[in-house]
Amino acid sequence: MPVPFFELRDFPVGIEAAIQGKVMAELAEKRFVLGPAVEAFEEAFAAYVQVPQAVGVGNGYDALVLSLKALGIGPGDEVLLPGNTYIATINAVQQVGAKPVLVEPDASTYNLSLTGLQEALTPNVKAILPVHLYGQTCDMPTLMQFAQEHGLLVVEDCAQAHGAEVGGQKVGTFGQANAFSFYPTKNLGALGDGGAVTTNNPEVAAFLRQYRNYGQSERYLYEVVGVNSRLDSLQAAVLSVKLQHLQALNAERQLLAGIYLQELQEVGDLILPETQAGCGHVYHLFVVRTARRDQLQQYLQTQGITTLIHYPVPAHLQASYAHLGLAKGDLPLTEELALTSVSLPLFPGMTSQEQAAVIIAIKKFFS
Ligand SMILES: *Cc1c(COP(=O)(O)O)cnc(C)c1O
Repeated sequence: MPVPFFELRDFPVGIEAAIQGKVMAELAEKRFVLGPAVEAFEEAFAAYVQVPQAVGVGNGYDALVLSLKALGIGPGDEVLLPGNTYIATINAVQQVGAKPVLVEPDASTYNLSLTGLQEALTPNVKAILPVHLYGQTCDMPTLMQFAQEHGLLVVEDCAQAHGAEVGGQKVGTFGQANAFSFYPTKNLGALGDGGAVTTNNPEVAAFLRQYRNYGQSERYLYEVVGVNSRLDSLQAAVLSVKLQHLQALNAERQLLAGIYLQELQEVGDLILPETQAGCGHVYHLFVVRTARRDQLQQYLQTQGITTLIHYPVPAHLQASYAHLGLAKGDLPLTEELALTSVSLPLFPGMTSQEQAAVIIAIKKFFS
């Protein structure tokens, strides 16, 4: 049975019709960029995350860049972030002129750990940028305490973890400015690009509302040299519908993950995702590890099952980051993860037959 890695399905049933209705309503409204639909979504998203302010922006990368800008992070500053994150996180730090300092993650959660941060700390570090990778929350209470002790700012990258909680508190509420992406495949996805910054600080929110729109304070009056990173009303309207179902969409991901976790126990040399006590997981991705990763991936493809690798080449070994002066062997765990990880199909609306086909094929490969 062919199993796609990801597919947008009508899940929960009826969501597709509701989205089409909203899109048609926005076409009649003719506002298109910012406007009432964006304001309504910002309010609903802030209420959902339980944070005073959410500011819609163009995409998740911009949400990171604008968060860093709003907190005054720039040239001369170092930012600690995990070496195994998606390239966008690192590019955002580079974009504001700060230096990304790549930190080895925790060996079982793949997220930033206290040990990693302690080892990488220098007097130039101004902020830490925890990434809730694959949908699993970082140990935020511990990371926040580290930040407080050393006077560091915190920007959370929540692009893979909408709705995930640490000890009952949602991600996007811990840092001073926190970035979300609404790229279509994310847990809360639009039908195009979109993003948001959440913050507890009204001044940060006010800066962002100007900065995303060329720095405009009142029509044709500008307080800062801003950029164009606005959320459009069609995406906001779609996101408002999907937000109402985010809990159900995440629950579906968790259900599928639970079945994988049960069925793939002690199969071959597979290492399954491990969650830390108190840390939530919304399974944006279901990532397993094996020494025979390439062979497994090829075998699954012959069975019509598509898998992906997040991420095959770590940032410090990319041509674009040669200037960091890091070589192969400098981040051994990050490199090991890149060589052994594979992401299995998991998406809302995936059928139990599809998941059974994946499980059977993996067991067959290892038997
Ligand atoms: C998707 C993603 C981003 C960037 O979001 P875009 O909307 O694609 O710009 C940043 N960080 C992480 C961890 C992501 O997964």
